[in-house]
Order: sequence, then C-alpha cells, then structure tokens
Amino acid sequence: MLVPWPFRGADRNFRYPTAVGKDRMKELTAIQKIRYSRNILVPEIGTAGQQKLLRGRVLVVGAGGLGSPALFYLACAGVGTIGIVDGDRVELSNLQRQILYTSEDLDDLKTHSAQDKLHRLNPDVCIEPYNEPFTAKNGRELVSGYDFVIEATDNFEAKFLVNDICIHAKVPFCHAGILGMFGQVMTIVPGQGACYRCVFGNIPEPDQVSSTDQVGALGVVPGALGSIQAAEAVKFLTGSGKLLLGRLLTYDALNSIFREIELPPPCCDVCRAAKLI
Ligand SMILES: [Zn+2]
Repeated sequence: MLVPWPFRGADRNFRYPTAVGKDRMKELTAIQKIRYSRNILVPEIGTAGQQKLLRGRVLVVGAGGLGSPALFYLACAGVGTIGIVDGDRVELSNLQRQILYTSEDLDDLKTHSAQDKLHRLNPDVCIEPYNEPFTAKNGRELVSGYDFVIEATDNFEAKFLVNDICIHAKVPFCHAGILGMFGQVMTIVPGQGACYRCVFGNIPEPDQVSSTDQVGALGVVPGALGSIQAAEAVKFLTGSGKLLLGRLLTYDALNSIFREIELPPPCCDVCRAAKLI
C-alpha cells in the first residue's frame, strides 16, 4: 500500500483539507466563488465544471520541465487532489526550465518543494506526493487512485511504462515529450484512439535517440506543452471541449509552427491484451 509522503515543514504548520470527497460535492463557498470566478465565467466550465474540478484527482508523473507548469495550472484551477510522482532532488541545471523550483530549493526533494509551492498557491487542493520513481512495481497502484494521469517524464522507459500501465488499468492520460526547441503532446483514453505504443512501437535503442541531457531543451517548450497537458486534464474532468484523441500535436518553437498528425486506431499488443481492439 502506497502512502503519500507527508510534507512536514520544519517551520510551517500547514493544514491540509481533511475531506476532499464529500465536502467537494457541496456548494462552492463564498471564497471559492471568488477564487475560481474566472473559471466559472467560462461557459464550458461554469459552477458545475468547477465542482467537478474540485472533486477531480489527477496524477502527475514527473515534476520537471513539463510537470512544473502542469502542476501550477492544475493547482490554481482547483483540481481537488493532485498526486506527484518523482524521486529526484532539485539540481542547478533544472532551474532553467523547471519553474516550480528556485535557487533556494537546490538539493531538496522535488515532491517536497513542489508540495510547498502548490499548497501556498492554493490551500484548497490536496497534494499527494510520492517521493519515488514510477516503476512497474508501484505504477498500477499509483494510477488506479486517479481519474487522469499526466505523463511528464523525461525518458522513454518511463513513457512506455506509464502508457502500458494506464492502458491496462484503463486510466486516461496525456503524454508529452520535448527535445531542443520541439515537442509533442497527445491524449489517450484507452480504447478511444491510438496509445503511445501504437504510435511509437517500442523503447528505442540508446544510440537511436537523443536526450535533453545531450541536446538541451528551451524552457518555454515544456512550458507550453505542460500547459496543454493541464488543459487536457481540465477538459477531461469537466467533460468540455475536444480532447487530443487520435491526434498528435507537435510544436516547433524554432519556426513557431503547430502541426496536427492524425493517428491510426488502436493497433498494438498492449491495447490488444487489454481487449481494447
Ligand atoms: Zn496501443
């Protein structure tokens, strides 16, 4: 049984919401009506959508360049419960793009630092930090407690693992990947369009691909794509708009071009094993 790693601020006495379940079904409080007024004014969200967000549970796997903006926007939108999976500590080279962290956070656990920031941003939401990497051993249990997953990892092993576990568990998720000044994003609702493995096959050999450690990444690229991932989660929770299903959206920041690539129907062995084909 995984237990969220509790944040115990040495000099802070944070109080977390005690009931994210039933209480969230109630009318919005006067303070919530003000805090979320700009959400509520959007016709596609409204009061009912805000209540859905407050009841929503989203797991963000990876609290780095993509996870930082995704987490900020999920928290300020009022997504009631946000899980964060990351076993790393903040490094100096992270600060160029991982906007959750400051120079004061160096060497701190990312989950610890992220929880601190997000709770101060919006004490209305419950942050559930998991200070560990996402693995084949813990992944199924992690995703099973959430409505939607944001895959914001930085390596192919983790991306395929999140995909396979979410497909098996039938948990919708949004994938994004970045490199240099380019990125891509797609949403997967198991059985409704291609999954990550349907499109990309298998984990590539190390000599076939580059990583951000080798060729870098401009911070605004994960900034843009992590924000899109948060928008996909909000749309899913509120049932509004059209998700990035069966479509891969690519972003070329160098030439300021977004492209949309139509994807095939589910066709991989993982989708087949999950009886989605
Ligand atoms: Zn598939």
